[in-house]
Amino acid sequence: MNSEAVNTKPNFYDLSLNQITDILVQLGHKKFRAEQLFKWVYEKQVVDPELMLNLSKDFRKNIPEIFDFSLPAVLKELISKDGTRKYLFDVGNGQSVETVLIPNKERNTLCVSSQVGCNMACKFCYTAKQKLKKRLSVSEIIGQYLGVKSHLPEDIQITNIVFMGMGEPLDNPDGVFGAVEILHNPLGINFSKRKITISTSGLVDRIPMITEAGVRLAVSLNGVNDKIRTELMPINKKWPLDELLNACKEHADRSKDKVTFEYILMRGLTDRLEDAVALKRITKSVPCKINIIPFNEHPESGYQRSKEGDIRAFQEKLISLGAHVLRRKTMGDDIYAACGQLNSVVSQQNSIQ
Ligand code: SAH
Repeated sequence: MNSEAVNTKPNFYDLSLNQITDILVQLGHKKFRAEQLFKWVYEKQVVDPELMLNLSKDFRKNIPEIFDFSLPAVLKELISKDGTRKYLFDVGNGQSVETVLIPNKERNTLCVSSQVGCNMACKFCYTAKQKLKKRLSVSEIIGQYLGVKSHLPEDIQITNIVFMGMGEPLDNPDGVFGAVEILHNPLGINFSKRKITISTSGLVDRIPMITEAGVRLAVSLNGVNDKIRTELMPINKKWPLDELLNACKEHADRSKDKVTFEYILMRGLTDRLEDAVALKRITKSVPCKINIIPFNEHPESGYQRSKEGDIRAFQEKLISLGAHVLRRKTMGDDIYAACGQLNSVVSQQNSIQ
């Protein structure tokens, strides 16, 4: 009986403020206690009940019996020569995920993972070599934010959060949107929704969830027609380009926000000038910016990065056609932290050596 009670103790970081309130009220506590506790944990980042001085002594004693406050441990921290930091988090059962902090002048972007491994099977992506092992819980996503924050020097603040790490966020809506709600809650971390971006490989029927959550949408396009996109990203068979682009337009209309299209440049495959023209054409009805990403090679990549001259020519072509285009700087590739290079199996093996 007792051990069962221990096992079912909810993890505090999995719960929204409403859920915390329900639990406390059911146990006979006053409703406002939930808000007080939530503020201590997320706003003041104090988890030791003894320090929560505006709570009654009895309630303070009770807290550890009601909630479990454990978070994924940081197994490893790597710092790139360009300042990018990569963290390996233990999410139990011998599994781990990677989280990356990318510094860039006035911005520090945290790239969080939503799954261990991924089932989308995109041909170019290193994470996809690891089939889906686990959808992360809310606490495992929040834990990446809190864990990285606690490891950063005080002068580095996280200013943006992107769900562009391991996994397909829309294949884990409970974890991802639950985490967004906590990150955003003004009584806690109070992270602006305009600074949170969810990137998807194109699970079209779930894109409205991003619109409703009020966060920003990024879509990994990577191919300018169904033939090449299906070859690179099997999800395109289920949700072809015209349906994907319609969903993007719908999001832009409803949110009054621009969509970010990510487009990887692979030598001889996606980087010809005619591809740039097609890319502009297929995205013209969607208010958007285009993020071109030179392919990052990894041990099982097979594809090659475009030549520097071709990357420039591609970008200039898009600009000349009136597109809003940015080139994503390759960051952290010396520690395997760049786009498409995250694979926790390899990181763990390395950490044992
Ligand atoms: N599954 C989501 C979130 C991952 S985001 C999605 O697909 O959007 C990771 C981004 O890195 C995606 O835009 C993907 O297209 C890109 N990417 C994956 N492998 C890459 C590689 N080897 N080089 C450069 N970009 C890559």
